[in-house]
Amino acid sequence: MQATVLTIGDELLIGQVRDTNAAWLGEQLTLAGVVVRRMATVGDDEKALQSEIRQSLDESDLVVTTGGLGPTDDDKTREAVAGLFGVELAFRGEILEDIRERFKLRGRSMPESNRSQAMVPAGFEVLSNRVGTAPGLWREIQEGEAAGGMLAVLPGVPYEMKHLFAEEVLPRVRRRGGLRAIVHRTLRTAGIGESSLQEAAGDLSGMLSDTLRLAWLPGPGGVRLRMTSFGGDREEADGRIAQLEACLRDRIGAYVYGANDETLEEVVGHMLRDRSLTVAVAESCTGGYVAHALTNIPGSSAYMAGGVVAYSNRAKVDVLGVSPDALRKHGAVSEVVAVQMAEGVRRRLGADLGLSTTGVAGPAGGTSEKPVGTVWIGYADADGVAAHRLQLVRDRMLNKQLTTTFLLDRVRKNMLAGRP
Ligand code: ATP
Ligand code: MG
Repeated sequence: MQATVLTIGDELLIGQVRDTNAAWLGEQLTLAGVVVRRMATVGDDEKALQSEIRQSLDESDLVVTTGGLGPTDDDKTREAVAGLFGVELAFRGEILEDIRERFKLRGRSMPESNRSQAMVPAGFEVLSNRVGTAPGLWREIQEGEAAGGMLAVLPGVPYEMKHLFAEEVLPRVRRRGGLRAIVHRTLRTAGIGESSLQEAAGDLSGMLSDTLRLAWLPGPGGVRLRMTSFGGDREEADGRIAQLEACLRDRIGAYVYGANDETLEEVVGHMLRDRSLTVAVAESCTGGYVAHALTNIPGSSAYMAGGVVAYSNRAKVDVLGVSPDALRKHGAVSEVVAVQMAEGVRRRLGADLGLSTTGVAGPAGGTSEKPVGTVWIGYADADGVAAHRLQLVRDRMLNKQLTTTFLLDRVRKNMLAGRP
């Protein structure tokens, strides 16, 4: 089964609202086994809408639209759809009562303009909206070239759209059948760039095919490898994924820290907890981002001792005990200072592990010796202390995220190697 997603609204075309509906629908349809062949965005314009819907019904079995069902004059979807099928809009008293009731529950009286939301094009089924006012519309086309096509017309407000899609649209689509099994699984890696990782994985072309695909998705949290298996029954699809995963783990398993939605801070947090280790962080260029990541995980109080944002040299000296001499001689962005920060915070907070970051976050402030993106990360435990130099990018926020990823991955690798 193939689908077209149409998002509607002038605000999308001028970039005022980011089109998250299309992305969400794309994901949900794909997960359900529907092949999304096209997405498009149109303004609140009757003619444009009609021609887009007509074309979409010609090319796809299922068309899902979002937006333009509101009560205001700029919402044109209802009229456009009625016009396209050459049917009248009929007033449905029970829908208006429903809407009035919902306003009453919130202690408000319904504006008269909401009357338009009770207008339904003849031949359309109403998808009642329990979380908002605008009902959705549904039609299965009976005759003509598009016979057999399904049209779902949903409101634009994302949570209303999601609700109607999941509760009303998807069950109808499933009932139609003809969906293929699609299985996704994602391996998450850290500590290595996309091209090096691909090189380490070697030639995979013999394993991949039309029914088994692999996507490399780089991001601030590391490179994700999304495996997708199409067709056959669920068991076959699962089997193909398992085979590919085994091969990938064999070749690049050292970089894989988790799968699907697992985050690095979650994996590291659980490892710390299982080993009864505590951690303290001293942060300069990350400004608390490492502590933020670690404390995003519920239960992190079991292992997170605390953190110090030591941004100035003064704070590095006074709070962490970094030597003024080292700062003068090597500068704040240096191996010695990263080492002393990690040792200092470990001692100061009485933790098993001490971590540190110091770097040139950018976009300005680099020198030829320490260009923007130069970062030192420090690690101290009972077995010793060391710092590593990273050469990152020119983007300040990305440098904070990448530094955090590299640092947490170092903690993970050290624990796997039996440290401390
Ligand atoms: P309602 O009846 O609830 O007003 P509607 O069908 O009229 O729904 P719109 O007026 O088109 O919906 O959009 C309402 C709001 O929903 C917009 O202001 C926007 O914030 C959000 N929205 C609309 N379309 C999208 C989209 N494609 N992606 C993300 N948000 C959207
Ligand atoms: Mg609108």
